[in-house]
Amino acid sequence: MKDDGLVKEVPSKSGSFPDWYTAVVLKGELADYAPVRGCMVIRPYGYTLWECMQGLLDARLKATGHVNAYFPTLIPESLLNREAEHVEGFSPQVAWVTHGGAKELSERLALRPTSEAIINTMYARWVKSYRDLPVLVNQWCNIFRWEKATRLFLRTLEFLWQEGHTLHRSEEEAEEEALRILDIYVDFVENDLCVPVLAGLKPESEKFPGAVRTYTIEAMMPDGQALQSGTSHNLGQGFAEAFDIRYLDEDNTEKRPWGTSWGVTTRLIGALVMTHGDDRGLFLPPRVAPFQVAVVPVLFGKQDEAVLAKCREAVTALAGLRVKLDADTNQTAGWKYNQYEMLGVPVRVEIGPKDVQKEGAVLVPRDGSGKRFIRFADLAQEVNGLMDGVQRGMLAAARERVRAMTSEAGSFDEFRARLDAVPGFIRVAWCGSAQCEGQIIEETKTTPRVMVPAEQDRGDAPCIACGRPTGKRIYYARTY
Ligand SMILES: [Zn+2]
Repeated sequence: MKDDGLVKEVPSKSGSFPDWYTAVVLKGELADYAPVRGCMVIRPYGYTLWECMQGLLDARLKATGHVNAYFPTLIPESLLNREAEHVEGFSPQVAWVTHGGAKELSERLALRPTSEAIINTMYARWVKSYRDLPVLVNQWCNIFRWEKATRLFLRTLEFLWQEGHTLHRSEEEAEEEALRILDIYVDFVENDLCVPVLAGLKPESEKFPGAVRTYTIEAMMPDGQALQSGTSHNLGQGFAEAFDIRYLDEDNTEKRPWGTSWGVTTRLIGALVMTHGDDRGLFLPPRVAPFQVAVVPVLFGKQDEAVLAKCREAVTALAGLRVKLDADTNQTAGWKYNQYEMLGVPVRVEIGPKDVQKEGAVLVPRDGSGKRFIRFADLAQEVNGLMDGVQRGMLAAARERVRAMTSEAGSFDEFRARLDAVPGFIRVAWCGSAQCEGQIIEETKTTPRVMVPAEQDRGDAPCIACGRPTGKRIYYARTY
């Protein structure tokens, strides 16, 4: 398609952050608004990004013994109602199917807001003996939650995710599983997506409905708001009781298994955009970028064939990487440079007539560290080295930013001052009572995000609300 040749400008990231975010998602061709309120279309470029992310997480889940399956989108109301806390937690956001054709259904069907109810119903049929345990099943699917506001990738009525649902013989095994998955999420989100997170336990008030314990990974966005980026729940025996799952143990007695569930969603794409994007558009980490390298021929008419031949040779030399050769003659090289910066391609290779003569190529990393001329013979080695460097640099830069946005407050005054100066994660001592939690939320307009792991506690300090000495610490933040 012929473009007008202008740079696709986006508003400044340091200006209106929400406007910048939406412009980058739209112009970066990740998603668009659907003709249905609250819904988005994930465009091919955005979906390829999701597939790259999926591949890396799916491999980790399979390497730890998990297998994929698929369960129906429609969940009968009676199943959803079986676990009291669960239905209470989700009912405000459930979308219902009430008719099949013109005929009203005798029982409403929920569009799955999560799949514990239907999956545990099937587990009750399948699990009979201790030999059937553990059950380690994951599902990649869509989810519906009736949200009021719409933000592309961050808040939509329908989104994509993976949800793991496991059963175990003991409480310890279920807890180990919940923590193993938390570790996998941290590894995936930090090392592949270059998004640093705080990982740990949610306070009681923020638990998944029906869970005994909920673990979370929380990322900090450049606008000072936390983004919950994945959760892993120890479900105890609550769902096994509600759905009557029993198995015959080795000692010939009937027992109930212990469960977990866990998930990450397409919201992670929002985290990627906000963490790494800039005024030129997206910036995608090499490990998940749909195109890791864009090869752009610099064409003048004369010697074009030689230039294009060299570009094709470059694609061959870069076999094994995801490479886009853009030989479109309707656009100038300059327009393409801007375009691939907008799409966040980590490394650009430019080859013109002079480069062909000199047996070289120009490499331009998206991180702004400057272009470099290399020998063509070294292309693959140089590009691979550059991508490793870009990947490491992206995580280091994000870590540095989040470190600067994380602080501690010993009082409400200090809390408010910190929040005004540098919004971000604020760590406070908290006694654990719901009353004090309510007061902190009320006075600071933040919410509790994640408990500081006990091993990082540094002795007793007064709870910032009631003053009682406590060893507990927790991070508060404003949140998406
Ligand atoms: Zn207190």
